[in-house]
Amino acid sequence: MAAEIEKPELVMIVGGMFSGKTDWLQHRANEYLIDPRYRKLVVWFRPQRDSRQADREQIKSHRGVKISKKVLKATIIKNPQELYRKALDFQVIIIDEAQFLDPSLAGVVFLLHLAGKKLFVAGLDLDWCSDPFPTMQAVMFLPGVKVFHVKGLCRICGKKATMSQLLDKNGNPVSIEDGKPRIIVGGKEKYRPLCAHCWFETTPGTRIAMRQKLSWLKPDDFARILVPKMV
Ligand SMILES: [Zn+2]
Repeated sequence: MAAEIEKPELVMIVGGMFSGKTDWLQHRANEYLIDPRYRKLVVWFRPQRDSRQADREQIKSHRGVKISKKVLKATIIKNPQELYRKALDFQVIIIDEAQFLDPSLAGVVFLLHLAGKKLFVAGLDLDWCSDPFPTMQAVMFLPGVKVFHVKGLCRICGKKATMSQLLDKNGNPVSIEDGKPRIIVGGKEKYRPLCAHCWFETTPGTRIAMRQKLSWLKPDDFARILVPKMV
């Protein structure tokens, strides 16, 4: 076990909203926080843009699991440059909600990896329109990165959820044709996890968007693909 912990690591954990990404990061952080060699060398970064928690230094998952602030506090950073400067004094570098940072994060992660650091990068892989976040894509294809996908549960059918659906203030799905920004900070009041099938079926505008991507599609083609759900 000790030998394993000494290996350099470059790990990404990706998934939709409420899929347990922060729980997973906490699990990895705790492995190092109990190791006297690393206890003081762990840093947890959170982008300033993530304004969902009143106490921003508190490390807490959606399930409410916390790391005591006496043990580790989140370090709030504005951009990858600030992250780089602050990370140099540490050995175990944890970056939560990485999709909020700009794609230069990939270069920063690569340099820190070359410097022999252990890196754990978590974030949303897809935005609410199901397009990839450019920053996550850029980090995902760095050489040597290990990627783990985590899934929540679909709030409609209970299958594994891979998508995050954006809801309006009445709790109705927002159309992907609305032209709203791709980054909208929010929690359970704004998002629900869904499987790909339920997301496609219940999000307004998905058929139009698909027809724009695949101009040869006919309405019939959807009927053939989207079989009725088993209830
Ligand atoms: Zn579903």
